[in-house]
Amino acid sequence: MPELPEDIIDDSRPLGDTDTFSFSCGPERSCFTTCCYDLSLVLMPYDILRLSRHLGMKTGDFLKRYTTVHVGAESGFPVIQLNMEEGSLKCPFLHSEKGCSVYEDRPGACRTYPLARIARRSRDRDGVEETYYAIRDPDCEGFKEGRIWTVEEWKKNEGIVLYNRMNDVFGEILQAKQESGISYLNADQMETFYLGCYNIDDFRAFFLEGPNFDRYLEPEDVIQRISESDEALLEFGMRWVKRKLFERKCAACGISGS
Ligand code: SF4
Ligand code: SF4
Repeated sequence: MPELPEDIIDDSRPLGDTDTFSFSCGPERSCFTTCCYDLSLVLMPYDILRLSRHLGMKTGDFLKRYTTVHVGAESGFPVIQLNMEEGSLKCPFLHSEKGCSVYEDRPGACRTYPLARIARRSRDRDGVEETYYAIRDPDCEGFKEGRIWTVEEWKKNEGIVLYNRMNDVFGEILQAKQESGISYLNADQMETFYLGCYNIDDFRAFFLEGPNFDRYLEPEDVIQRISESDEALLEFGMRWVKRKLFERKCAACGISGS
C-alpha cells in the first residue's frame, strides 16, 4: 500500500463507478509488502476504531501506543499519524511472511489503493459526490497484467463503502469549520475534537457514563443506538464535535443556529 504523493495520481482520467482499471496484488509479486514501509499514514476516525477493536485495545491505549498527533497545516485539526517501527520504518502491523496482520481491519487508505478518492459536497442535492483517480506508482507491479476491475467492484471487494461514509461525516466537520469562519482551535477545542473523533472509548465514558448534561438533551432512541453500536457512537461523536465547536449560538439565549 504505497503512500500517495499527489504527483503520482493520474488526474487526467477521473473514474466513475463503471470505469475500469487493471490491478492485482499478492505474494506472487516481487514487490510484495515493500510498500508497507516508511509511510506517512494518516488514520481517520473509523480506522482507529477498527484497528483498536482488531487488537482488542481501548482507543486511548491504541492511540498512545501506535500513533503521533500533530496539527494539520490546512485544517488546523488534530491529525493522527500511524508510527512506523523505529529503525526498519516498517508498518507495525506488517508480518514479515504473512503480510498485513490486521488485513480485515486495515485502514481505508490501504483498502482504496491503487485508487484515490476525492469527495465533494454535492451542489444540487444533499450528500457527497465522489470521484476516483488511479495511482501510478512506478515501484508497484500491481498494474502489470492485473485483473480488470470496475471501481464499483473494487469498492465492494475491498469493503470501502462504510469507511467512505464515516470519512464523509468527518468531512462535515471541516466544512462546518470553513462556514463558521473560525480559523484555529484553542487547546480545549482540540481536546473536544480528539475525544469525539478519535478516542471514542473515552467519549463513551464521558458522554454516556459520566455526569453530562448534554446526554439528557438527546432522545432516548439515540441514546440506545449509540449505547449499542460503536459505529453509531463514532458517527454521533463526530457530529457532536461539529455542533460543539462550529455551530453558532445566540449570545442572549444560548440556542444553536447553523
Ligand atoms: S503490487 Fe503494489 S500494492 Fe501490492 S505489494 Fe506490490 S507495491 Fe504493494
Ligand atoms: S496496515 Fe497493513 S496494508 Fe496497511 S501499511 Fe500496514 S501492513 Fe500494509
